[in-house]
Amino acid sequence: MSSMPTAGRTGRVYLVGAGPGDPDLITVRGLELLESADVVLHDELVPPELCARVKPERLEYVGKRGSDPAEKQLKQSAIDARLIELARAGKDVVRLKGGDPFLFGRGSEEAQALAAAGIHFEVVPGVTSPLAAAAYAGMSLTHRDLASSVVFLSGTTREKEDFDFAELRGHRGSVVILMGLGRLRSLASALVTIAERSPATPTAVIQSATRPEQRVVVGTLADIADRVRDASIRSPALVIVGDVVRLRETMRWFDELPLFGKRVLVPRSESQASRTSTLVRRRGGRPIELPLIEVRPIADRGPIEAAVTALAGYDAVLFTSENTVTHLASALEARGLDARAFGKARVAAVGEGTARALRAIGIRADLTPPKFRAEALAEVVLDDLGRVLGSPAGARVLLPRARVAREVLPELLRARGVVVDVVPVYETEPAGEAHRAAIAALFEARSIDAVLLLSGSMVDSLVEVLGPDVKARLEGVALASIGPITTQAAERHGLTVATTAPEASIESLLDALAGLDAWGPDAGAPSPADPVT
Ligand code: SAH
Repeated sequence: MSSMPTAGRTGRVYLVGAGPGDPDLITVRGLELLESADVVLHDELVPPELCARVKPERLEYVGKRGSDPAEKQLKQSAIDARLIELARAGKDVVRLKGGDPFLFGRGSEEAQALAAAGIHFEVVPGVTSPLAAAAYAGMSLTHRDLASSVVFLSGTTREKEDFDFAELRGHRGSVVILMGLGRLRSLASALVTIAERSPATPTAVIQSATRPEQRVVVGTLADIADRVRDASIRSPALVIVGDVVRLRETMRWFDELPLFGKRVLVPRSESQASRTSTLVRRRGGRPIELPLIEVRPIADRGPIEAAVTALAGYDAVLFTSENTVTHLASALEARGLDARAFGKARVAAVGEGTARALRAIGIRADLTPPKFRAEALAEVVLDDLGRVLGSPAGARVLLPRARVAREVLPELLRARGVVVDVVPVYETEPAGEAHRAAIAALFEARSIDAVLLLSGSMVDSLVEVLGPDVKARLEGVALASIGPITTQAAERHGLTVATTAPEASIESLLDALAGLDAWGPDAGAPSPADPVT
């Protein structure tokens, strides 16, 4: 989209549904607009992960301010005026709203105001919370055998215009109540006394639907208010009334995912964390992104520059991590070179992430050993060189590495006559003070269930951050290691690793974590809130 300020051009306003909570449930169109808009106006129901994709200077908050009750929600008229003002200034604006912008979201009032002002607008529907909550709680609002209609109603309406439950007399379908948590007791009783539903009608309250914090309380119209109070259910939450609630007994799935609700520390730097976090979320877990280390290009540029210009002279280049690929690639780029600089060199990539990083620069690895065990890797490379060159002896191999790295692999290769150039291409340092303090505070509050350890330097940094109490702080926390070298690094510090990935990939690591005994379905979901389980 145009951020070019054409003289006199009026911007457009897009009323976009952000989906119910899981950031992956925004539409393709919504995401595209979010990433290209000049300004994004959002409120509190919008998933924070989506806001994080927008540069702070493009983001405007127009909802309730944090926990400060003194600051009132910006008046709707002020939001309307702001949208019009931005569009007239030539900005393309995304108005991002939780769920679907037109379901109880006042998005339609914004559309009317824009129409009246002659501003071009478009609407991008969103996955709405009543449908998503039902699906993620294991219910279908219109299962053929149980309900042939569904009513959405708001539990909080304008003063003196409360929903008239007499409208529902004789209605036997499903009922979903949004914005009704605060008045649950009177709403449930109105459904019985005025709408004439049986007090035994199955009723569920779903909090934070589609997020790893999702909680579901099941009861009847008669007892749901007490159950919800006992379980301390909080906003956002909605109520589902009707026989379809029973489907959860057989159709439940989301809160049974292997990592459901687990708080998993993803200690990578921002640029690499998001894919890992998505994979954690896909297993129901709650990723917490805070880097333990920062990765930066190697300060001493001599060796990497030399390697890059002489790349075609190598018989093979071995990449052992994504970082080795990206840092070598930027050195190539800086010299105006590209993938052709590799010439006929064989290329090996350990792990799927490394192979993916290579594909991104146009290189298909010839060898993709899944595991990082120096011995196995050396074997694969020696075999390959033997086949291609007749003998590995005298072959020239480039091994881009971190500044501090183990020597085993090059030694194994040299023992067979290979000429190995180990070239440091990046270095790591412990994350900045703010990140380290934030991590220490999370452990102190016992707010971490598992840590992904992706390198020895991450282990070192974790030990340093947690200080002399490291073992006590890690009690009850599952350490999941990406491979044997990282595991050894942890063990050298006296830490116990709960599981080591069989293959050098995040998928393999998370599957190993999910497979831990202590993480079975019983240990998983916070069940006290769920009388149905
Ligand atoms: N436009 C939104 C609804 C806005 S009204 C949509 O389409 O979903 C706000 C109400 O939506 C909340 O009070 C709550 O009842 C419901 N809600 C929104 N997100 C929710 C979620 N993740 N879990 C449970 N209820 C949610």
